[in-house]
Amino acid sequence: MATRALRIAACVLSACVLLTDAATAQKVPVPEEALGFKVGADFRLATYEQAVAYLRLLEQASPVIKIFEMGRTSMGKPMIYAVITAQANMSRLDRYKEISRRLALVKGVSEQEARTLAAEGKAIVYIDGGLHASECAPSQHLIQLAHDLVAGEDPATRLVRDNVVTVLVFANPDGMDLLADWYLPNVGTPYEVSPMPWLYHKYAGHDNNRDSYMTNLVETRNITRLVNQEWFPQVLYNQHQTGPFPTRIFVPPQAEPTNPNVHPLIVRYQNLFGSAMAAAFEREGKAGVVSGFRYDSWYPGYVTQVVDAHNIVSILTETNLYRFATPHFYTLEDFPEAYRDFTVSAFYPNPWKGGWWRIGDAVAYNLTASKAVLQTAAINREQILFDKYHAGSDVVARFKKEPPYAWIVPEEQWDPPTASLLLNNLTLLGIDIYTADKAFVADGIAYPAGTRVIPMSQPFGLFVKNLLEEQRYPDLTKYPDAWQGLVNPQKFKEAYLPPYDIAGWTLPYQMGVKVRAANTLLDLPMTLAEKFTAAGRVEAAAGPAYLISPKTNNSFIAVNRILKQGGEVLRARDQLSVGTDTYPPGTYVVRRGLSPAAADSMAKDLGITIAGTTRTAPPNLSPLKAPRIALYRSWTAQMDEGWTRFLLEQFEFPFTNVQDAEIKAGDLNRNYDVLVIPSMSTAAIVDGLKVGTVPPQYAGGLGDAGVRSIKAFVENGGTLVLLNHATLFAIDRLGVPVVDVLKDYRLPDRRQAADAKPVEFACPGSVLRIEFDVKHPVAYGMPEEAPGMFIQSPAFRFNPSFGGKGAVAIAKYPGEDILMSGYLKGEKYLKNGVAAADVPLGKGRVVMLGFGVEQRGQPHGTFKLLFNSLYYGAMTKQ
Ligand SMILES: [Zn+2]
Repeated sequence: MATRALRIAACVLSACVLLTDAATAQKVPVPEEALGFKVGADFRLATYEQAVAYLRLLEQASPVIKIFEMGRTSMGKPMIYAVITAQANMSRLDRYKEISRRLALVKGVSEQEARTLAAEGKAIVYIDGGLHASECAPSQHLIQLAHDLVAGEDPATRLVRDNVVTVLVFANPDGMDLLADWYLPNVGTPYEVSPMPWLYHKYAGHDNNRDSYMTNLVETRNITRLVNQEWFPQVLYNQHQTGPFPTRIFVPPQAEPTNPNVHPLIVRYQNLFGSAMAAAFEREGKAGVVSGFRYDSWYPGYVTQVVDAHNIVSILTETNLYRFATPHFYTLEDFPEAYRDFTVSAFYPNPWKGGWWRIGDAVAYNLTASKAVLQTAAINREQILFDKYHAGSDVVARFKKEPPYAWIVPEEQWDPPTASLLLNNLTLLGIDIYTADKAFVADGIAYPAGTRVIPMSQPFGLFVKNLLEEQRYPDLTKYPDAWQGLVNPQKFKEAYLPPYDIAGWTLPYQMGVKVRAANTLLDLPMTLAEKFTAAGRVEAAAGPAYLISPKTNNSFIAVNRILKQGGEVLRARDQLSVGTDTYPPGTYVVRRGLSPAAADSMAKDLGITIAGTTRTAPPNLSPLKAPRIALYRSWTAQMDEGWTRFLLEQFEFPFTNVQDAEIKAGDLNRNYDVLVIPSMSTAAIVDGLKVGTVPPQYAGGLGDAGVRSIKAFVENGGTLVLLNHATLFAIDRLGVPVVDVLKDYRLPDRRQAADAKPVEFACPGSVLRIEFDVKHPVAYGMPEEAPGMFIQSPAFRFNPSFGGKGAVAIAKYPGEDILMSGYLKGEKYLKNGVAAADVPLGKGRVVMLGFGVEQRGQPHGTFKLLFNSLYYGAMTKQ
């Protein structure tokens, strides 16, 4: 009886909700009314503007969707997102945000209260699309998903609307439009499936999904704020479209290795959601769903992996894609051998058998996946809300009992503004950082009051640990339990299993910031700090000359500003002693162009120390001119070019992007002192995009004419700066007397290690110890030993047999103990290898920076090598 009464009440209630939504709603427009075509139609892509226009139509027609702005994109577009939930929920959004926030942050919430909040709250589910813009289907599917969630009156959709607040995000609006602008005019031409010859994010291209812990990009910061400051979702679903062929979609569980700094409950939920998604596909007869393959959760730069250490269930899918919105027919002959007999496995029980694949199919797969995520969240709503609190509470409790208890950031830093940057970044990512109210001792080291402390006993403590500690990448061949889902494990014998991305990233190492783990419990009064700035100041006398230390990266901004205004700046070649202070080689002596007032505001603005001095002419000075910088931009659209361009803008270096035609035309010395080639292969530089695969103006690379022009540029006195892989260009094409000692040992590609041949050397993106000649102008301001990012890098030896005279090492790997974080097999090949070299050629020189000095805009600790190289190019003129 009671059951029946309850059921009637429930029916009345849902009918009431339905009535309310319907009564105030006008007719809900379908996407084709706004777009002029069906979402997922062959050869058609909606632009971001069209998508937003349609969402606004939905907003006008229905009370269950609201549009908000979350900031601007790198190219200045407003970045909007849509919230969809039942009308009754819509009026209580602030309350649901508050519940989510309190359950996520744990503090001050008892278990009993958490249960009450979980019962009251709604699941917040973030779904994005289009982060990787060339993977077109996910952003298109968001348009249809919005429609279906708003208009659907079936029980499953209503269950979602009643229990879930869905947050739909277009993760890369610029890219969505760049891609449509490239592809649509090419449809029906011979270049319909040509790759876009520029990046689909202004700076990062594909690396916009490697930026999540560093938050260099404004889009990353917008998403980070949305997730960690405003909505605190329980589930985040990030969509991609590079399914492992011939499978049709990858869903969790992820491949190995599993990152140890994620609460196991979150890993279990990922598996649960993945299985629920896969079951939905089988129910709908959609074949080709695979799990446990290729995509691992080791690296925390991804959107998904930065949030799972925030106790958010993160879901990654990779749907299959031919090219853009062009359909393709696959036969069995297209399949790799191992997939042709359709053998089934636990994570691939329903193989795809070939046939047509269209963007419409990918959109349909995305819709199935998104709806399964939303329904799983709806069904498990209360448990998911409580379990986020549970995971957070566990982390809080764990690090009250076990080390590291905290991370201490000592006041004394090599580059104080960069240390502040790290702390501000962690704050944006939802981490609480404190200031010690009094002096204290930890692990036998004394710290003054004012020292910054990051306690581990906070809900996202595992995220802190993941970023700050050294990574020990596991040798997966040792762990039989990790073999599930791996094809042909015996092929990996004596090899290793590389991660999908890099193996080590320890952020304080990358940034050159000193951070210490506290291995004893800290019991001291602390105050929550909100914003971190290095205290800049002007020391000693006001002029007439000023000294600026080369140790801080912000000094480059200061010097660029002074040079821009026509000031006179010199660099000291030796250590300088002024009074009781000593300044390292490379110290800037500003003789003209800096007034006392300007010095004061510059010091405060940039957080640097500027010292007035009466010594206007210390010995051994090299005059510095503003270098005329050319940055090579290839039609092969290199991410490293984007990141280099990003850094030059951030540090206020004026520069010009030069492309193939300008280089081939020759006479580069007329306009430039320095030419920078970002990390890319010799083939990409010289051959570029293959003739016939793109419109002719983008094909062919620099060719022999371009190589001759670059050689002439250097021989006539120019400075060629080569980054990481591009250093091999000098060996391959300029005949520099340098050899790459790793040439025969480098693995062709990460997952191609499945060769029965034992692997002798492997270092899949790790932090290595590097020694610097700090008297060399390229290493000015560096410590004598510092971490550097090894990214499939070379290592050099000079070859005197063909005239190696004059080449000098700027940096080299030490004789032992090279690995700092990540994975290194075959250390012996790297021992004493040269990591960066200065090689004279004619009247000019080639600066070979053979590791990732500015990789992804992250290793602030080695940015100086790039920036100094630019100044070096202008100093050599004297
Ligand atoms: Zn992708």
